[in-house]
Amino acid sequence: MQTIVTVSELRQTLTQARRAGGRVGFVPTMGYLHDGHLALVAASRAQCEVTVVSIFVNPTQFGPNEDLSTYPRDFLRDETLCRDAGVTVLFAPDAQEVYPSQFETYVESGELAKPLCGAFRPGHFRGVATVVCKLFNMVQPDVAFFGQKDFQQCAVVRRMAIDLNLPIEIITVPTVREPDGLAMSSRNRYLSEEERRRALAISRGLLAAVDEFRSGERDVEKLVAIAKRHLEVVDRLQYLELVDGDTLKAAHSPLRRTAALCAAAYVGSTRLIDNVMLALPSP
Ligand code: AMP
Repeated sequence: MQTIVTVSELRQTLTQARRAGGRVGFVPTMGYLHDGHLALVAASRAQCEVTVVSIFVNPTQFGPNEDLSTYPRDFLRDETLCRDAGVTVLFAPDAQEVYPSQFETYVESGELAKPLCGAFRPGHFRGVATVVCKLFNMVQPDVAFFGQKDFQQCAVVRRMAIDLNLPIEIITVPTVREPDGLAMSSRNRYLSEEERRRALAISRGLLAAVDEFRSGERDVEKLVAIAKRHLEVVDRLQYLELVDGDTLKAAHSPLRRTAALCAAAYVGSTRLIDNVMLALPSP
């Protein structure tokens, strides 16, 4: 595995790999890697000869009162995990490499970026779309892998790739959970033992709604109410919404199209998100 920190070296290395006929798979991350990230790496390795992982804690996607400065980092551990997972290139640029001075060009998403996290994190998806677009241009992958855990991010990136004619296949990988159901997240490390126990309510609530859905429940309010009962133990529920799986607009009863039940909640001072898909065949 090669660790690379500049765009020019990255381009050189990947040009050679591409000449050799390899498909390039790309997994963008903010580091502090866990099995969720490694599932994306495994998906890339299954489809591509070359797998590039980026580690970059992107300042433009954090709000002024968010956890940019305290975001967990452990580069040496991440590097070992990537090497052991069979990553070809680990790309870890610094902020200056990604955002040179006088940087002023952004990618602005539309309706998909407005609800859910977009409503509570102004500018977040502008930062995400911008950095993902820039990383796509740096890596020029054939395929890029994103986690279902960040459902809205997947929708925004997929739309951006279509709208900006980026010749990149976007693949969504299912959410990896701890054995008890908690969605893996780098932010889980902020949780105390007691908070960790209460955080479990998020996945419990969402998965309880999935059970009801599988038993035939199609009423939006009832499905949301089932999840909400579990979520009473979190400190602040930011949103719990059942939205259309494609448009991310509020779903209507009775459900006839695939929907996503999405939640964001604070447990202590940690903001956690999770979602489940309620899948229906297209009419
Ligand atoms: P992050 O480092 O949190 O920005 O995440 C980098 C990528 O890993 C994103 O595409 C995430 O959606 C994905 N990811 C994070 N957590 C999980 C998880 N528990 N299961 C699957 N993918 C995940």
